[in-house]
Amino acid sequence: MTARKAVKKAAAGKKAGAAVSKTRATAAKPAAKQAKSPAAIKDAGLELDPARIAELLRRLRAAYPDAECALLHRNAWELLVATILSAQCTDARVNMVTPGLFRKFPSPAAFAEASLPAIEEEIRSTGFYHNKAKSISSAAKRLVSEFGGKVPQTMDELLTLPGVARKTANVVLGVAFQKAEGVVVDTHVLRLSHRLGLTRAEDPKRVEEDLMRVIPRDRWIAFSHEMIHHGRQICIARKPRCAECPLETLCHAADKTESSH
Ligand code: SF4
Repeated sequence: MTARKAVKKAAAGKKAGAAVSKTRATAAKPAAKQAKSPAAIKDAGLELDPARIAELLRRLRAAYPDAECALLHRNAWELLVATILSAQCTDARVNMVTPGLFRKFPSPAAFAEASLPAIEEEIRSTGFYHNKAKSISSAAKRLVSEFGGKVPQTMDELLTLPGVARKTANVVLGVAFQKAEGVVVDTHVLRLSHRLGLTRAEDPKRVEEDLMRVIPRDRWIAFSHEMIHHGRQICIARKPRCAECPLETLCHAADKTESSH
């Protein structure tokens, strides 16, 4: 029995749902620590064969040729604000809020001058609005004072903005400036990367590092969009629609709902 099958068998013996992925993570951990050789990597449940990854990327692109960021925006600043608002919130909800928000505060300077309660009032329905308003207000102030009111175009500079971590910075760099500085790792990219055996890491920064090692740089931006679309439409969290999945023959996830191999 291969290690991958052992992991699947262990997972199958557990109760359905979240317990499955928990079991896989537990089973994979000791091997992952010793992951020095190709055999050890295989034991960790990773599937990093370049030909397989190339085929994964080909099928993702074929399935989602027009995948792009779903957050409505007209410039880099609006995208940055929308991405901050999208934390713990759906893009659809953010898109309902931002047109009114940007009408009321049409520039970073307008946000910088606005009171926190005034911003909170506009973004309340996106949740965590106290923190989000604080981040947006502080980011706007720093943008005005340090960057001439313009969104900077480097990772290092973006990370100095309050409320901006690598995910938001990668979204802004990739979508607004077409700069592939990293891979956007949101909840969908993280879940799918595990199911597809591209990483065993849990921390988004480690996941991003793993993906940057195995995905060619010229695919980093589109790969994230495609994975997010796939995670929303097919490889959903609780009950993935494996029978309809174009990646099914390449996928050995323990919680598949249908398997042809
Ligand atoms: S086969 Fe199922 S688990 Fe694997 S990527 Fe497709 S939908 Fe997700």
